[in-house]
Amino acid sequence: MHGLTLNRRHIRTCAKQYAQNFRIFQPTSKTQRANDCECPIAAEGTLMIEGLISNRSTKTYEWKKAEQIAAEWEQWGQTTAPQEIECRVITASYAVESFLASQGPQGRNVEGVIRCRSPLRSLSRLDFQIHPQHTRHR
Ligand SMILES: [Zn+2]
Repeated sequence: MHGLTLNRRHIRTCAKQYAQNFRIFQPTSKTQRANDCECPIAAEGTLMIEGLISNRSTKTYEWKKAEQIAAEWEQWGQTTAPQEIECRVITASYAVESFLASQGPQGRNVEGVIRCRSPLRSLSRLDFQIHPQHTRHR
């Protein structure tokens, strides 16, 4: 059983000229299909983390896609994908050297790269670190 309910939220140019809040649910019969329009589909219901949502656009007007999106939201418990930013330390010298290596003698715009080489290398003395971060979007 789905925690979210999908219904169309009509736009001004609705093919059937329905009022914005006139509820059209996923059609299950021929008649309902005939009454369906092509407005964006919104979801409402309760998600584990995000809580109650209403009129949240799935940004699609296809029922199948909207169902997939709603299923994903339910799985995440929220409407945005949880992000685990990888724990990574990048030094300026590492970035500079790997950039230079990627250009190489065969690289495009070799002259420009050679001209940049020493300013880039002096930049790499300013080594810095990006601290690991874990964020969870709400
Ligand atoms: Zn419509």
